[in-house]
Amino acid sequence: MSLTDKNKASNSNNLRASSQPETDKSLIIKNGWLQKIEQQLSTFFSPRQPQDNISLLVIHNISLPAGSFGGNYITDLFLGQLTADAHPTFSDIAQLQVSAHCLIRRDGSIIQYVSFNNKAWHAGVSCFNNREKCNDFSIGIELEGSDDIPYEEAQYQQLSRLTVSLQQHYPLITNEHIVGHCDIAPSRKTDPGHIFNWPYYRRILQQRKVN
Ligand SMILES: [Zn+2]
Repeated sequence: MSLTDKNKASNSNNLRASSQPETDKSLIIKNGWLQKIEQQLSTFFSPRQPQDNISLLVIHNISLPAGSFGGNYITDLFLGQLTADAHPTFSDIAQLQVSAHCLIRRDGSIIQYVSFNNKAWHAGVSCFNNREKCNDFSIGIELEGSDDIPYEEAQYQQLSRLTVSLQQHYPLITNEHIVGHCDIAPSRKTDPGHIFNWPYYRRILQQRKVN
């Protein structure tokens, strides 16, 4: 590379860096945890086994009460602190022991509940490529949402940003190993729903990788 080329590259890098919004910076993963991200430590996890190579990303949605956004009920659920009488629909779910690795809220903010190096309890009875018990080898990301309400742009951006970091850190999560909960438990689950724009998500994911 000539000096001139070096200068050009350096200048273009500087330009790109200065014009990047916060969501274009990489998310750093250390010891299974995202750095500079809100953590709420769930006890609903189990250790991974040495043979459980992390090789799948599962995208979900959740809203509590169903169709309502905001508030802390999702975190309460994943921490085992949801009270049955907080809403008429909670009596059936308050005792569930479920979790996910991360939640991406409507504004794009992330909360992490379980280390990626442990199993979160998100997939339930499930199967991917003839392998059952997807919790063993997957990472579960919840989008705050429901099957028929469009997701926010901030959520697509943050999900793609998070996906890039996860794929860098866990390279067995190839693009073909990113699925919806509906794909691994089709008789039980519909999330992230027909409204989730897979082509758009995959497009901005690729754009982040080439930029
Ligand atoms: Zn799900």
